[in-house]
Amino acid sequence: MTTKRGFTTTLLHSDRLGKPEHGALHQPIHTAVTWGYDDVQDLVDIFQNKKKGYAYSRQGNPTVSALESKVTQMENGISTIAFSTGMAAISATILALIKHGDHILASSYLFGNTRSVFQSFMDMGLDITFVDATSIDNVKNEIKPSTKLIFVETIANPATQIVELEKIGDLCQEKGIIYMVDNTMTSPYLFNPVNVKATLVINSLTKYIGGHGNALGGSVTDTGLFNWTNFPNIFEGFKTQVKPEVLGMTQIRKKGLRDAGGTLSPEAAHSLSVGSETLALRMERACNNAFALATFFNSHPMIKKVYYPGLESHPQHAMAGKLFLKYGGLMSIELDESIDLFAFLNKLKLVVKSSNLGDTRTLAIPVAHTIFNELGAEKRAEMGISDSMIRLSIGIEDIDDLLQDFKVALG
Ligand SMILES: *Cc1c(COP(=O)(O)O)cnc(C)c1O
Repeated sequence: MTTKRGFTTTLLHSDRLGKPEHGALHQPIHTAVTWGYDDVQDLVDIFQNKKKGYAYSRQGNPTVSALESKVTQMENGISTIAFSTGMAAISATILALIKHGDHILASSYLFGNTRSVFQSFMDMGLDITFVDATSIDNVKNEIKPSTKLIFVETIANPATQIVELEKIGDLCQEKGIIYMVDNTMTSPYLFNPVNVKATLVINSLTKYIGGHGNALGGSVTDTGLFNWTNFPNIFEGFKTQVKPEVLGMTQIRKKGLRDAGGTLSPEAAHSLSVGSETLALRMERACNNAFALATFFNSHPMIKKVYYPGLESHPQHAMAGKLFLKYGGLMSIELDESIDLFAFLNKLKLVVKSSNLGDTRTLAIPVAHTIFNELGAEKRAEMGISDSMIRLSIGIEDIDDLLQDFKVALG
């Protein structure tokens, strides 16, 4: 009898359970591209999905598998596939599961590059509708008979909107629609989308899971809640080879990872694995720092608006409190018109002017001029992004140093 261990204990001892050589505490970095077998039958069985094993590292590698297993445990899922980036995970999953004629319903509040790749899919003929999913009625109104997938994020970046996560989950379950939830902003430490009946969970491992801004990676996790047997887009050949519960992930691994080729390198997988060991500690600290800063900004006369789910004034504050362990490490602020945006940012000496989020260091970026610049003014307005918005990804520095840096810059 084993009882389920805690979040961090599970991660720290995960590699040892696979019994790496010499009693190593980390799964080694396996750089082999290909894997050889004495009996050709073993190789054939691996190709035909009859046996687990490795054939070619584009579609599976032991170092990457060790990381996939950690993400599965963190997300309370049944299996995970890792990719070279979060964007590779998102685009390959859609490529693997969706066909021409299918409809995708996506939240209007999306990470800029996700919105951009969805636009490319539309240019290729996919039917995609963007909807303000903070209202379940809006979502219901846009569902069509051809809707195969709904895509949302947990806390939207940069304006921190939170969509009707639970109600959309119920709707997807009722209608047999794939519910794809990007959990990057909350991370599996704050929230498991399986709790709102998600089918597939996306994580950009680059962000909080890796946590140190030193490796790119992404993942998709199957929660085990979706019945893939009746999903019409599953390749016939897989149906005779694998159990019904792994049909979705088999298709994503073969058609999404193997064919599209967005493979995570074993070196990056190792960095991300080591980073993940301290996710809980870093997240606690980042969330506490963020809460303290949001409170400070909220009562500062030179700050016009603070976007942070931890503030009572946030429209979905109650939902965030109910669903998430803490309110996250990301916030956005708008300055009083009398302050020059760039001058303010240049006065910050500790906080780094940089893109990325979920780093150990606090990062600041003017949103409309950079990460959401390409979208244009009209789409930015639709997404609730003003020209004076600054996104802050709060790190794990000592809070007094962060407060001091902002106090000086605000003059
Ligand atoms: C960064 C990010 C991604 C993309 O991840 P990469 O690893 O940078 O490709 C996807 N979704 C969200 C919410 C993100 O913040």
